[in-house]
Amino acid sequence: MSRHDWLYFADGTLTLQARDVTLAVDGTLFNVYRHHLIAKSGFFSGMLTLPNPNQPTPTLKASNGTSDSTVVPLPRNFTTVEYEKFLNFIFNIASWSPDIPLVADLCAILKTSHFFAVESGVEYAVHFLEAHANFPAPLQFRMGCDYSLVDWVTAAFDDLMAIPVNDMTPEDEELIGDKAFRALALTQAEVTDHRMSLAVCPPVPTHATWCRNQEYCQTQWDNAWTLMAGPLGWLFKEELSGAEIYKKLDLWVPAAMTGECRFLTCTRLELDLTKEELIIDRAVAALIKLVVV
Ligand SMILES: [Zn+2]
Repeated sequence: MSRHDWLYFADGTLTLQARDVTLAVDGTLFNVYRHHLIAKSGFFSGMLTLPNPNQPTPTLKASNGTSDSTVVPLPRNFTTVEYEKFLNFIFNIASWSPDIPLVADLCAILKTSHFFAVESGVEYAVHFLEAHANFPAPLQFRMGCDYSLVDWVTAAFDDLMAIPVNDMTPEDEELIGDKAFRALALTQAEVTDHRMSLAVCPPVPTHATWCRNQEYCQTQWDNAWTLMAGPLGWLFKEELSGAEIYKKLDLWVPAAMTGECRFLTCTRLELDLTKEELIIDRAVAALIKLVVV
């Protein structure tokens, strides 16, 4: 028996083999081994091993020649294609290509595995989606909310911060939802205000005790700060994060400013320059309480 025989699709794509459970959804029947399904899925383990007086065993007969196997109607939460991906994962994973599966296939496995309590399916889909180059941030955000993957919500929100809300497609807006869209809009505005203020209003320098000409020293600092080759350009042309700018300050020499004054001033700036990360962290923490199931 080849591995393909572990699963039969009613559309005739694989060889028919007698199985002891038939799963039915939207006119499609999947004939599968009961014990393998029970071993993999907490949901089916409960359904197929414990008698439930409120949920009598369905007596519908399979209509494709599988004679008297029990037919279990599947919940209609998922499409037939999603069920195919799910059952292929459970019964046929060894035959899959070694390449990373498509995002749509992985999402189908995650959704169904989460619902049917297939831990290995959730782990498999999460692992490959996180490594996937084509996993878009709005979809990652949606799935993170739906399946309580807080790290995904946080990572996706960070990525979405780079997309102005005005440039989001209607599809992406619908995926992330109203609450996240509003949080993104507010956070982007707050970060932009902070960066604008930081760029055009040079921080007041801290002078060394022996700095004899503080006015000249500050003029050097102010002029250098507002050059496109300085923090102003890093903030708005190169769009570096505050943390990245803070690192660049180590090697930055603002003209004829006193060296010790430069060091004291730059060291003190860490809090100002990393404030945007704090703004984002605070927004994500508040949003997670609203949107993660
Ligand atoms: Zn000085």
